[in-house]
Amino acid sequence: MDRDLSATFEGIFHRSPIVQVRAPGRVNLLGEHVDYNQGVVLPVAIDRAVKLAASPTADARVTLNALDLGVQVAFRLSEVVKKRDLDGNPLPAWALYPAGVAWSLQDTGLSLSGMQAAYTSDVPIGSGLSSSAAVEVAFAATWQALSGWELDKITLARLCQRAENEYVGVSSGLMDQFASACGVEGHVLCFDTRSLEWEPLPLPPSTAIVIADSGIRRTLAGSAYNDRRAACEQAVDLLRKYLPGIQSLRDVSSVELAAYSTYLPEVIQRRAEHVVKEIHRVDQAMIALRRGDARMFGGFMYASHKSLRELYEVSLPELDCLVEIARSLPGVYGARLTGAGFGGCTVNLVDASQAEVIIQGLHNAYQRRTRRDATIYLCHASDGASAVKF
Ligand code: ADP
Ligand code: MG
Repeated sequence: MDRDLSATFEGIFHRSPIVQVRAPGRVNLLGEHVDYNQGVVLPVAIDRAVKLAASPTADARVTLNALDLGVQVAFRLSEVVKKRDLDGNPLPAWALYPAGVAWSLQDTGLSLSGMQAAYTSDVPIGSGLSSSAAVEVAFAATWQALSGWELDKITLARLCQRAENEYVGVSSGLMDQFASACGVEGHVLCFDTRSLEWEPLPLPPSTAIVIADSGIRRTLAGSAYNDRRAACEQAVDLLRKYLPGIQSLRDVSSVELAAYSTYLPEVIQRRAEHVVKEIHRVDQAMIALRRGDARMFGGFMYASHKSLRELYEVSLPELDCLVEIARSLPGVYGARLTGAGFGGCTVNLVDASQAEVIIQGLHNAYQRRTRRDATIYLCHASDGASAVKF
């Protein structure tokens, strides 16, 4: 239990919380832009999380206090579909994430308790570590703890994804909510976005994860993301003529792509090549994980970055710079941009005993070369969402 959070809750609501929930952010180690092509992704839940304290109420009202933003709002569960607060004003953007979870859970037939909730998070907002999924999963886990039903973790993640897609209006795959719900300490989550099956594999021994935020916000990311998705769909449509029965690029091997890619427009060829080879790299990287081979796994991270830069064209000079610096530092096994691209973070797999020196090295060299400050986080793979009742 977090005593400070309980005390803050008591200061606001003049009663004690009866539940505390923690739900982490995530970083994807490998398998980028493959989730919407039904590939396997390799995220980890990180040790940065939303922490939430709550108590139920009998009046079917929800009062949210976002401690980091210093704001509070209340709405009625019965009117959540209207996206309005108790006074009839539109819900503020930040409240759409928890309200969307209420909408999604109720829409599937679950009954929810009213609640008072206060929450805070150390997942940086808008850096690509999925602060939004952490908020959603935290609220879903809280309602689960208060309302007397229990969902399996994948179902819970899917309902959170639906909240983000349909209520907030942001299209995204299931990986973020999955990782926040299902994280396993010290493990990479091998998540098959087609079958929704998953398996945790241990991170190589004595490794740590270093995340370097380039400081560039992902302004282009939205339109480029839609454009890349469309390119993949077009590739499947065109390839179907030669490979009947394919559902997605997951069904296309490297050999088949090499044979038929001349029938694709040049740009589509490159996009498809990234996806098909990235899906293959993930297969190989799982072998590396089973062997505990950090160097082999890291090699696939570097190859992924090269492919994202040259074939998928979603990198930026600053992200390339962070990867180049990482490559020159002793103790770094692999580095690549993570997330949709066009800004955000790189992820580095490093020798844990050299992590601090690596962080300094990354920061200093990036500063020297770009005149920018990278924010760097040392992370460990952590457990997924958990709730404690008292
Ligand atoms: P990210 O890549 O971090 O998920 P998004 O733009 O998808 O970025 O989601 C960020 C949004 O999630 C914020 O603008 C806010 O509405 C909500 N959010 C994230 N963290 C918090 C927090 N600590 N308190 C309140 N809302 C938060
Ligand atoms: Mg998000």
